[in-house]
Amino acid sequence: MNLLDNIEEILLMGPGPSCVSDAVYSALSKKTLGHLDPHFVRIMDETKVKLQQVFKTKNSLTFPISGTGSAGMESCFVNLVEKGDPVLILINGVFGMRMQDVASRLGAEVDSLEFEWGTPVDIDKVKDKISQKQYKIVAVVHAETSTGVCNPVEDLGELFKPTKTIYLVDAVTSLGGINVAVDEWGVDACYSGTQKCLSCPPGLSPLTFSDKAVSALKNRKSKVPNWYLDLSMIINYWEGSTRTYHHTAPINMIYGLYEALNLILEEGLDKAFKRHMDNHRLLVTGLDEIGLKMLVDKPYRLPMLNSILVPDGLDEARVRQELLTKYKIEIGAGLGPLAGKIFRIGLMGHTARPENVNRLLQALKEVI
Ligand code: PLP
Repeated sequence: MNLLDNIEEILLMGPGPSCVSDAVYSALSKKTLGHLDPHFVRIMDETKVKLQQVFKTKNSLTFPISGTGSAGMESCFVNLVEKGDPVLILINGVFGMRMQDVASRLGAEVDSLEFEWGTPVDIDKVKDKISQKQYKIVAVVHAETSTGVCNPVEDLGELFKPTKTIYLVDAVTSLGGINVAVDEWGVDACYSGTQKCLSCPPGLSPLTFSDKAVSALKNRKSKVPNWYLDLSMIINYWEGSTRTYHHTAPINMIYGLYEALNLILEEGLDKAFKRHMDNHRLLVTGLDEIGLKMLVDKPYRLPMLNSILVPDGLDEARVRQELLTKYKIEIGAGLGPLAGKIFRIGLMGHTARPENVNRLLQALKEVI
């Protein structure tokens, strides 16, 4: 038996991956070219330009890292951190904690500011912290997928624009679903993932570095301690008139990303953001009618990741299991301190459509 013959079509409404459109599937199955083939190099170049448009940046160091969102996170820290560097991580969920772990492993002097899960980062506390100590890097997650909170990335950026601090932002879940304006917000290092609002399968991590971040990389005293993710080497493959092999690019994944970016740019970023917000509102209204409440207060809610409180006495694992087996819909569970306490419903990219929201609401009514 070939296990690929009986893969069911599951409506992916969890925290990612999201549904993939037929156009992206068909791009993924195009013929594989060599990684230095001139036609493939053109596809790489255009993918970079499209990523610049989606990140809203002119940064020339903008391209997809081979690896999932965590590889993008690791790339940012491994290229920017040297032993003993003071780093501040703002934490209000799993992915802020992951950043803390990654930075600590590199020997950074890591401080963290923690905020209750389900609430956003408090800018006044950040102001206070940075007035006491100068940090080389301050890092925050824009869309905290573990809780459904949107952090005030734009306002935080104002604090670092006039300073030497490198402002590092995780846009894994936000990119393509809500506004991410790298240049305008003064973001210096930013990474995303393909499997959320870009609606491509997992496997690539779009990344962008500002001039400030590039000059920190160029002025390192020590070698980047990771060969695979060393941007100063990878860039010779992604930039310039002659391309030098570093590692074999995941060719077909780049076709998929190229097509996914085409789709989002054809739709228009503002329209895509509105579609996410409209479907989020439709979902919240429907959930309210069933008596289900949101974890996060309205002003801080993400449209693409909805955390719903599990009512007392309801077996949340049974609900998710029945949705998957009977209705072919996947939703997510809570993580860490929120395990068993919330459901996580994703409305990311191609998933964010009214027919999907209505199908889930109907199924939830029946299962609950
Ligand atoms: N950052 C955020 C906000 C995420 O949601 C995720 C994955 O869900 C990651 C980082 C890690 O990405 P990946 O699982 O693709 O490695």
